[in-house]
Amino acid sequence: MLEGLKKGLRRFLDKITKTELSPKKLGPIVEELKIALLENDVAFSVAEAICEELMRELTGVRVGRMSDKKAFVREALRNTILRVLGPEGPPDLEEMIRARRAEGEPFSILFVGFNGSGKTTTIAKIAKKLKDEGFRVVMACSDTFRAGAIEQLEEHGRRLGIRVLKHKYGADPAAVAYDAIAHARARGLDVVLIDTAGRIQTDRNLMDELAKIKRVAEPDITILVVDALTGNDAAVQAEMFDKAVGIDGAVLTKVDADVRGGAALSVAYVTGKPIFFIGVGQGYDDLKPFVPEEFADMILPSGE
Ligand code: GDP
Ligand code: GDP
Repeated sequence: MLEGLKKGLRRFLDKITKTELSPKKLGPIVEELKIALLENDVAFSVAEAICEELMRELTGVRVGRMSDKKAFVREALRNTILRVLGPEGPPDLEEMIRARRAEGEPFSILFVGFNGSGKTTTIAKIAKKLKDEGFRVVMACSDTFRAGAIEQLEEHGRRLGIRVLKHKYGADPAAVAYDAIAHARARGLDVVLIDTAGRIQTDRNLMDELAKIKRVAEPDITILVVDALTGNDAAVQAEMFDKAVGIDGAVLTKVDADVRGGAALSVAYVTGKPIFFIGVGQGYDDLKPFVPEEFADMILPSGE
């Protein structure tokens, strides 16, 4: 997991420890780091921002002993990574749900993302997590087009003991979402998780459809589910969904199978939105809160 990025950062730290921190000596090493970042799915704009900031922070700094220098550079690198990820991390989901409930309203989350990104699985994981925490949760299927979409969500619902709200295939996805929230409101339920289509086979435009669902249903937040293995494309997708639909954050899936590691940095930087969770496997419990500090320490070599 994340070996590529780890290796690139370790090589950078080893080299820089043996170098004078003058712009002339620093330049080529930082350039090498940029290439390592690019090779490991960090988007170009992000790699450039990281390297520029490092050059600025490290140039001309005088640190005495070798070990001090390594610790100093590591800290500079760590701070840069945290700034890219947004150091404050995602807002507390449970707190947001409770605040909405205090107003007598259900908390609704619209999930968007391309087919195969792990959207349905992620919804099931989050549903289980919230149910385990004592919230009353329903899932709604606003993909009324893809054959099997409703059954897939219902199968998760059956296994987890969570209700799935649906209409028939061909129904208006926006109406499904709207009705699900109205149902939850009428029953005093806590959370509505809305699954959507990830591809449209007709001449209709996916982004337009998602924007319509959002406009009609007015979910509290919209979360993009994006597959870490799509690499550099993860950032492109994130930007596209954010522009067309508007997202409040992302879940990065398949991080367990991601040997490179740059997708998290790219998605967070390009959208400026927090990553709420990472998916680390196919099981229902394979969902971890995303903590920027933990992620930074995961990809950075240890301080010694
Ligand atoms: P959807 O089309 O976006 O709804 O995607 P699905 O939820 O059907 O997931 C597609 C595939 O990705 C399934 O085989 C999931 O088990 C798998 N998957 C989802 N999340 C993860 C994850 O975090 N790690 C791994 N290894 N596989 C995942
Ligand atoms: P209409 O003339 O606006 O009702 O649109 P269509 O006849 O093309 O589609 C019939 C219904 O299916 C509408 O409610 C659409 O919202 C829905 N629909 C069409 N294409 C898709 C799709 O690719 N995905 C999903 N989820 N719904 C779709």
